[in-house]
Amino acid sequence: MSEEQANIGVVGLAAMGASLSRNLAHHGNTVAVYNRHYSRTEALIAEHGSEGAFIPAKTVEEFVSSLAKPRTAIIMVKAGAPTDAVINELADAMEPGDIIVDGGNAYFEDTIRREKDIRARGLHFVGCGISGGEEGALKGPSMMPGGTDESWKTLGPILKSIAAVAEGEPCVTHIGTDGAGHFVKMVHNGIEYADMQVIAESYDLLRRGLGMEPSEIAEVFAEWNKGDLNSYLIEITAEVLGHKDAKTGKPFVDIVVDQAGMKGTGTWTVQTALSLGTPVTGIGEAVFARGLSSEAALRDEAASKGLEGPDPEGAFAEALKDDESRKAFIEDVRQALYASKIVAYAQGFNEIEKGAKQYGWDIDLGAVARIWRGGCIIRAKFLNRISDAYDSSETFGSLLFDPFFKDAVAKAQTSWRRVVSKAAEAGVPVPMFSSSLAYYDGLRSKRLPAALIQGQRDLFGAHTYFRVDESGAFHTLWAEPGQKEIEQG
Ligand code: NDP
Repeated sequence: MSEEQANIGVVGLAAMGASLSRNLAHHGNTVAVYNRHYSRTEALIAEHGSEGAFIPAKTVEEFVSSLAKPRTAIIMVKAGAPTDAVINELADAMEPGDIIVDGGNAYFEDTIRREKDIRARGLHFVGCGISGGEEGALKGPSMMPGGTDESWKTLGPILKSIAAVAEGEPCVTHIGTDGAGHFVKMVHNGIEYADMQVIAESYDLLRRGLGMEPSEIAEVFAEWNKGDLNSYLIEITAEVLGHKDAKTGKPFVDIVVDQAGMKGTGTWTVQTALSLGTPVTGIGEAVFARGLSSEAALRDEAASKGLEGPDPEGAFAEALKDDESRKAFIEDVRQALYASKIVAYAQGFNEIEKGAKQYGWDIDLGAVARIWRGGCIIRAKFLNRISDAYDSSETFGSLLFDPFFKDAVAKAQTSWRRVVSKAAEAGVPVPMFSSSLAYYDGLRSKRLPAALIQGQRDLFGAHTYFRVDESGAFHTLWAEPGQKEIEQG
């Protein structure tokens, strides 16, 4: 074993851990590496050992003793029980003041629990969201670490050395204490679902509505990528739609089974939003749309039962009239996509704000938008506008109040409404476009029908209500003659 000590260690050398170790070594760090089965460690050193300074270890004890103090180790193993097992092994071998980092996709409440346990043992625990997949881990991810200020002093420079760089700034910032980093990573993934769903709905309208070929739609997305929508997801959409299947020569998108998978972070985002009472309708629709896509048997059953729908051609006749009308409809869809995307981000950032309040985190929303500009799946130019919005004091309550976004949605709304009504008329599902529009209209309504719901609740359950003209809670004696109102303390 080398006499040299490592300034950082990585435990778990599968796809993510190996890439992260190499990235660390490429940037001048001396990296201790350990994996439960030594074969992975050997393979990493054999294939990439010459890329930088690595110290391979066969046991946890050997790994820990190769680290300089404060010993800092990033865990990149399977989420759940394996992560708990590795945390305990490391904590047993480490000393007070050392830092254990979980770089996996942990649920933030698990991170809160783990941080508390590890803190009680005198060590630091950092839950760090890492976005960008294997390529990001190797070439520069976007990272969202939680944990103490003290651990950030040691870890910050190391993470900054390997993060993606956007406009000269590293895509990493100290998000907040305990579970804050994994919370923000969770919402990032939820927004990613929403971003992908609005793109999918746009594609569906152009395909089913205008009858365009995937290769033609690829050109539309490539064009959109030059403007406000410029982003990694729009860019890869053009690539996927332009791709031809090598076996059949057919458009690739036509040979793929139309059932979208998911690993669970989108679901966590929605479950958490429900418990916080903050509406993330866009993310919710995106998760449910994947759910419906995967209900293959139910959809087959629906087809066999011949569930009735409208005549789509009739609904799109106007848009198909001539070239100019087609172009106008494509522009309407672009505007609908843009407005729905703004709503989804506004809702996602509101969830982060609500979470921060609930769990006592001081999260800088402008900084969150900045570290998402590079390295991660939702990276986009648009995030500069979001960071500007949160850096200014005008965006209290919602991103939709920021002058830039308020104006963008105001300009888009006529197109947006046309697209939603056309889709409904044609029977093409656009759950995100329509639910985002309903959220926008709900938000700007002076009075909502919730007053009626409150009346119903009081009638059947004596849940009481507030009056618009008096303070205090009231209940009406609905069953009694005269239905007298009484004040309820
Ligand atoms: P996997 O999730 O496939 O996990 C494999 C690694 O976990 C191997 O190193 C394996 O060791 C180790 N492991 C499994 N069980 C145990 C155990 N009981 N004790 C010790 N080690 C164990 O690896 P990935 O590289 O795909 O992901 C690592 C983490 O990063 C996961 O938490 C994942 O959620 C997260 N992540 C993944 C992303 C991705 O795009 N793949 C993106 C962002 C985060 P062994 O070789 O000995 O079996």
